[in-house]
Amino acid sequence: MQSTGWTPPLATYIPEEDQQEADLDWMQVALDQAEEALAAKEVPVGCVFVKDGKAIAKARNRTNEWRNATLHAELVSLDKILKTHDLPLQDVTLYVTVEPCVMCASALRQVGIGKVFYGAGNERFGGCGSVLDVNDTPRIKSSLSYQALGGYYRTEAIMLLRRFYLIQNSNAPKPKNKTTRVLKTDILPIKSRTASPSSTLRGSQTPV
Ligand SMILES: [Zn+2]
Repeated sequence: MQSTGWTPPLATYIPEEDQQEADLDWMQVALDQAEEALAAKEVPVGCVFVKDGKAIAKARNRTNEWRNATLHAELVSLDKILKTHDLPLQDVTLYVTVEPCVMCASALRQVGIGKVFYGAGNERFGGCGSVLDVNDTPRIKSSLSYQALGGYYRTEAIMLLRRFYLIQNSNAPKPKNKTTRVLKTDILPIKSRTASPSSTLRGSQTPV
């Protein structure tokens, strides 16, 4: 494998003023799923798949419930969709509260998803630009690339995750650090690729 000339990818974020109402409405549906995950003590990530203006599947993380590390919200939904829809899913759009991880980003590419909107970036495992660009790298020749646009209710998605980890830490028998019990409300700025749909992207400025 070639080791030179590689630069880390960057996720693509759309500034709030360029986000469409309809996309935010669908992201709210995904957030509701994430809320449900939080209530069930799962990592709060939720999603909804939309085709022709209708939800064809929605889900939340179920990794703890089934003790199966692959049961991310996206894959739980795809399981249902693959039983009733033919591939590729070019006319299907995914709304998910957190950037798909490398595993899910790859699965989404393999089923030929049309487009992905997400809330918060996934700095540890993100497969749509934050860590790897599985969604649109030209190195994958076997399946179509897809656009993944972030920043939709980003703050809400991040705060859900923080609430989850705060509860986890509070339940730990001996918290290492008392400050982990405080819910942080500051949202760090993002670095973004230059993105469509408009040229008014504000670079690394935070959209919140
Ligand atoms: Zn995943």
